[in-house]
Amino acid sequence: MSSRDERGADLSAKLRSLPSVDQVLSEPSLADALARWDRGLVVGAVRAVIGEVREGLRSGSEAAHDAASLAVMVERGLEARLASPLRRVVNATGVVIHTNLGRAPVSESAAMAMAEAAGGYDNLEYDLEVGERGSRAQHLEPLLCAVTGAEAGVVVNNNAAALYLVVSAWCEEREVLVSRGQAVEIGGGFRIPDVLVSAGAELVEVGTTNRTRKSDYTRRDTREVAAILRVHSSNFRIVGFTEEPSLSELREAADETRSLLIDDIGSGSLLDTRRYGLSGEPRPQESVAAGADLVLFSGDKLLGGPQAGIVVGKSSAVRRLQHHPLMRVLRPDKTTIAGLAATLQHYAAGEAEETVPVWRMIGAEASALRDRAERWRREVGAGDVVAAESTVGGGSLPGDTLPTFCLSLAFTHPTETARRLRAREIPVVARIEQGRLLLDPRTVLPDEDDAVVSALVDVLGVE
Ligand SMILES: *Cc1c(COP(=O)(O)O)cnc(C)c1O
Repeated sequence: MSSRDERGADLSAKLRSLPSVDQVLSEPSLADALARWDRGLVVGAVRAVIGEVREGLRSGSEAAHDAASLAVMVERGLEARLASPLRRVVNATGVVIHTNLGRAPVSESAAMAMAEAAGGYDNLEYDLEVGERGSRAQHLEPLLCAVTGAEAGVVVNNNAAALYLVVSAWCEEREVLVSRGQAVEIGGGFRIPDVLVSAGAELVEVGTTNRTRKSDYTRRDTREVAAILRVHSSNFRIVGFTEEPSLSELREAADETRSLLIDDIGSGSLLDTRRYGLSGEPRPQESVAAGADLVLFSGDKLLGGPQAGIVVGKSSAVRRLQHHPLMRVLRPDKTTIAGLAATLQHYAAGEAEETVPVWRMIGAEASALRDRAERWRREVGAGDVVAAESTVGGGSLPGDTLPTFCLSLAFTHPTETARRLRAREIPVVARIEQGRLLLDPRTVLPDEDDAVVSALVDVLGVE
């Protein structure tokens, strides 16, 4: 036999030795998958893997092709495709509102309210008094008005949607004046100019990047101006030779141009961030008091609630949003309404600092954080407790930091160790600074301490 024939005979033997579908299915490692998933899905996955391995053998692969190896491949493939995509993660980064990690964890009562709404029927669009169809849009309005002092309010899916709705409803085919320093990208590809244009408005940039005055807004032919839009520079700062008109000056400019004043304040902090040694973030109640017609902010940034976009302001301006066809496209679901109501109630009760996780984390005392980091160090038996800085994140307070204490650990390959921590059943996300792994207790929820300690004990064991 020539060597070519030998190779052919060898391949045929390998192909013949491929296990059957039933042989793979009866492997013990597939028992759990068969108990959990639809049998047809598992059988389909087994066929697919056998097909792939057959192709692999034909193109010269030397990989194992016994039933047990194939079953492991099937099991991994099913897990990758069918397991829940969202996993609980421990945020040890010290970034409080971490957009990549799901932004704000909601309060205990908000989480309960959301679960309750999800698992049952409710009066979402039902008027219990008259036994007829009611309005979803109006559930949150009284609470929103109570905590912001506004006349009216409406909720959509996120703040980007809120801006889109406002511009569509009020500015279509007309001009919106925006300071050059505010025609910016907020993050994740959300560009103010693009949103305005796609919502059908004509963007007119006024002033310059660093300095814009009231007169820049009023200088124009006013017939076409639908609105003056102020956008909070959430995630960057222009420093030095800068000037921006105050909101009351913008109110005057809007009156002079007979246009609407829209204030997109981003984070929408109802509490005063200066009490925590941070810079001042714009507050919805202040924008309302200064006379903005519509004030827009997120539900899941400094408000500390579920993902939502909130618009509060004057009744005449908000009503048009509630009746706009886009409202049907952007309306929030019942779990959002339930979670947001519970979150707003914390503010109405004056207890947000104690109950809303975002504020508890921002308000955590440095000494308490040091005690926690020390406890981790004792239980882990390694590392040093070092002074470090946490940030608020979520496009709020750029450049501001909160003093904290972290557990700092030296590893030969810190990026590899960080990867190991992320690969755990409960992933722990840490940060690396100057070649050391830092874990910040500020953003680790109280019931997650054990997860952090056991993760560190395990990775230290591997070192
Ligand atoms: C974050 C932010 C948005 C977008 O809000 P989402 O809730 O993420 O959609 C819009 N405008 C400003 C000023 C922001 O800071």
